[in-house]
Amino acid sequence: MPGFPLEGGCLCGAVRYRMNGEYEGCAHCHCRMCQKATGAPVVTWFTVKEDDFDIVKGALKFRQSSEHAERGFCPDCGTQILFRYLKDRGRSADIAAATLDDPDAVEPSFQIHVGSRVGWMHGFDAALPVRKGALER
Ligand SMILES: [Zn+2]
Ligand SMILES: [Zn+2]
Repeated sequence: MPGFPLEGGCLCGAVRYRMNGEYEGCAHCHCRMCQKATGAPVVTWFTVKEDDFDIVKGALKFRQSSEHAERGFCPDCGTQILFRYLKDRGRSADIAAATLDDPDAVEPSFQIHVGSRVGWMHGFDAALPVRKGALER
């Protein structure tokens, strides 16, 4: 486990955050709202106490995504960074693990909403062959 603080941010760099304490859990979420909000088939979230989490550059824009929850994203580039139940405001929030500067600093231990898991994601964490993407050199 790397030391604290851990830092992360959005794609364009306008929003940066710092995490000063241990996370409480980390999970792959396959729900349709995460899929739509990010354009990705799965989003990996880790949970932090809001006392241990600070936005240190820029500001998130918040949008209520259901009657229960809101999502915070970079207003410039749209990167989805934070998910929070309205009832947990000020207490805890989920942070998108891939926005960490070092995503390996956290490790998912379970997955949720598998009922809407995309068919071709079955076994995605098994040993899939690695191929270079078109934009890799
Ligand atoms: Zn951005
Ligand atoms: Zn979700």
